[in-house]
Amino acid sequence: MKIRLGFVSNSSSSSFICQVTGEVYSGYDASLSDACMYCCAVGHEFGEDFLIDVDDVDQLISCLVDDKVAYANEYNPDHPSFAHKIRDEQHRTYFVKRYHTILEDAAEQRVWLTEQTFEHVDDLLERYFDKYGEYGSLRYEVPSIMCPICSVAHLRDQDLLAWLLADQGLDRNDLVNKLKQRHSTLSSLRREVDRKRSNEASRPGFDLEHS
Ligand SMILES: [Zn+2]
Repeated sequence: MKIRLGFVSNSSSSSFICQVTGEVYSGYDASLSDACMYCCAVGHEFGEDFLIDVDDVDQLISCLVDDKVAYANEYNPDHPSFAHKIRDEQHRTYFVKRYHTILEDAAEQRVWLTEQTFEHVDDLLERYFDKYGEYGSLRYEVPSIMCPICSVAHLRDQDLLAWLLADQGLDRNDLVNKLKQRHSTLSSLRREVDRKRSNEASRPGFDLEHS
């Protein structure tokens, strides 16, 4: 979940964006359930239709523990980006404390999860969120294995772009500068994209399925 510090209001406008379709839901004091959306442990929001079914209890147990550790690592004080990400001294102290608390919670939950016997996935989810859920419900903290973004059932453009740039050994800023030099308008850039696509498609033996 996103953490909003210092945000206090009796009635506020909330909006949710499905990261699969881009659909936006907004309303005063709206909740994720009003929007028919879920939010995963990392913070991806998505429509109910995209929730992924899981039937392996053991797989779900290790996911729940891993998610907790991954969440803590977002604020790992040993990570080089930490000081840069959280500039305010007071917030830093808060997150360092939070980091250690989450890791301790994760260790406790791991013990509890392995001591229990769960009949099936629904039984596990219900008892786990009842005991440890910050919101007492799956809706606000879907395990990553059930999230379409985390499980790569849906690949967002930003993740696709990051992969393509890394794969091609390109730096984003260099590429932006190169394109700015070549094109002065978006339509000119789009014409080049269309041209490249039609050249690619007309290549002899080109087969998207197997290339
Ligand atoms: Zn996710």
